[in-house]
This record gives sequence, C-alpha cells and structure tokens, in this order.
Amino acid sequence: MSDDVPALDDANAVKPAADVVVAVDVGATYFQAGLVTARGVLVDRSSALIEADVGPESNYTTLAHIVTEMLERAQTRHAAVVRGVGLSSGGHVSRGLDVVSPLSVPAWHDFPLRARLEELSGHAVYGDLDAKALALAEGWLGAAQGQPNFCAVTVSAGVSGGIILDGDLLDGESGYAGQIGHFVVEPGGRRCVCGTQGCLEAEASGQAIAAITGRPATESSYQVMQRTGDLVGRVAASMCNAFDLSLVVVGGSVALGFGSTFFHAAQVTLDEHARQPYSRGARITPSRLGESGPLVGAGAVGWRGLRRAARRRPSASVAQPPNAR
Ligand SMILES: [Zn+2]
Repeated sequence: MSDDVPALDDANAVKPAADVVVAVDVGATYFQAGLVTARGVLVDRSSALIEADVGPESNYTTLAHIVTEMLERAQTRHAAVVRGVGLSSGGHVSRGLDVVSPLSVPAWHDFPLRARLEELSGHAVYGDLDAKALALAEGWLGAAQGQPNFCAVTVSAGVSGGIILDGDLLDGESGYAGQIGHFVVEPGGRRCVCGTQGCLEAEASGQAIAAITGRPATESSYQVMQRTGDLVGRVAASMCNAFDLSLVVVGGSVALGFGSTFFHAAQVTLDEHARQPYSRGARITPSRLGESGPLVGAGAVGWRGLRRAARRRPSASVAQPPNAR
C-alpha cells in the first residue's frame, strides 16, 4: 500500500534537520500522506486505498496509519523536523476542515478530521478544499508560478476551482470561493446535484460526460472533448472578465486526459469571450504538477497556515512559505 518516490528535484533535496509539513490528502480513490519542505519538495509519500464499505473509524485507522508512517519517517529517514500538518479534501467541509463529508468516504458525515489529526500528530493542522489547495500549489511551483492573479480549475469527476487574487487565495463567506462548477453554461440543461440546471459540473464533469454519452469520459469522442473545452472556456472567460485575470490553469483527469483537443477548444472560446482590454489575450494552460499536485497542495495549505499563525505570534519564525501573503 505504501510506495516511495524520489524527491521531485534532487537539487532541492531535503537537508538534514530541514523543516517539513506532513501533507494529507483525501482523494477520490486514495488517502495520501507526504512530507513537503518549505520549498515545496515532496521528499516522501505514502498512500492507502479508501474502502467504501467500512465504518468511519476503519477509514480513519487507514489514514492514521500512513500519517504515522510519515511522522516516523520524517525523523528516521530524513532527519527532518515536522512543523505542522496540511490537509486537503473535496466534498462538503466546514471552513478549515474541522469537519468533513467527502463523497469518496461515504462513512464520514461531519467527521472531525482536523481534531483527530491534531490529536494523532501533536501538531497544528491546517485544512482547505482540494481545488483551493491545488491553486496554491500551481502558484507556488506549477503553471502559475509567481503569478499573483489567476484561477485554477479542476475538471475530473466533478468541476471545482480556486482563485488567487492579488497574491492571496480567496476564501469567501464560508470557504468555498472559486467553486466554479455551478456557473450555468447551458440554460435549461442537465439537472445538477445542486438542484439547478445546466451547471458546468452537470455538463462537463467526468460523471456528466458518462451520463450524457453512456461511456466513461476516457472513451470520449472528439466532439465531446471539444464541447467540454468550449464549456470550460466560457467559464474561464467569465472569470477573466469578472476578476481581471489573464491566466487560467486547468487540471483534473478529464481535462488533462482530453489534452490538446480540450485546451485548443477552451482557448478559442476564451479568446472569443474575453474581450475587455484587461482580459484580452488571457491564456488557458494545463496544470504542471501532475500526480504530485494534491500533496504539494496540501503541503502549501500547511505552510500557509503556519505562516499566518506566525504572523499572529510575532516572536515565532517560519521558513519561507508559498504565496507570501
Ligand atoms: Zn450546480
């Protein structure tokens, strides 16, 4: 169940006694845990399959096992000091992931994940939605590196996103800012899980494509790939026009799987609809972090949380974190 991968960048390989956060991601199929340095290097990782038909404590035990493994390896293999824990999850969550109800873990309804991980690790745990975590990661080390203004979008089983504006990740009233899956792209279109019709998620997500075509998204025709790109491009244009952005980074298995057909169609539509002087020329580009994105994202959430906590305690110091604000 566990697998080791080498550091992403050997030149940045962790030094003895480097600081790390334990990154924890509740994914669609797997729990993942890893160690992420303050420079975003993923120095170790482990994963465990999420079992759908077991109780909440059984799920937690599976996750706790790989988190404990990372806590131990930080010390024994990497001579690293754990500074905190960064956590990411999709689904319905409360702000900061105090309680989570991920679709991929049906037994967890308002499960107190943050408190349980704090108890387990003895460290502060900082949590955020997976798409927002990915936005932080793309701005830190990915396709939007160093960009203060962009939107990150994931098109996989669902459609989600995160917005970085003036160098900071937007949270919103309840922490869901950037959930662009519920932009209406087809008035009167398919019924969405949210109750309305024609949302981007109801038309362009992997689940929607499977329902519309009767085939998994991986077997989509050229026309379906193009339509999906077109719909995402429409929303990307609205985002650029509304938030004064010139870059939209798109990840997720569906978008990345459709590749250039998707991205070409999305760019054509974005060009067509982003016509303000400030939004003209906006680009839509694939995410660059690939399968390490979720853990680097969770790591970014952890470092961001530590930095913010340190600002509230001026005497504390935290190593250089991502998206410095
Ligand atoms: Zn909806």
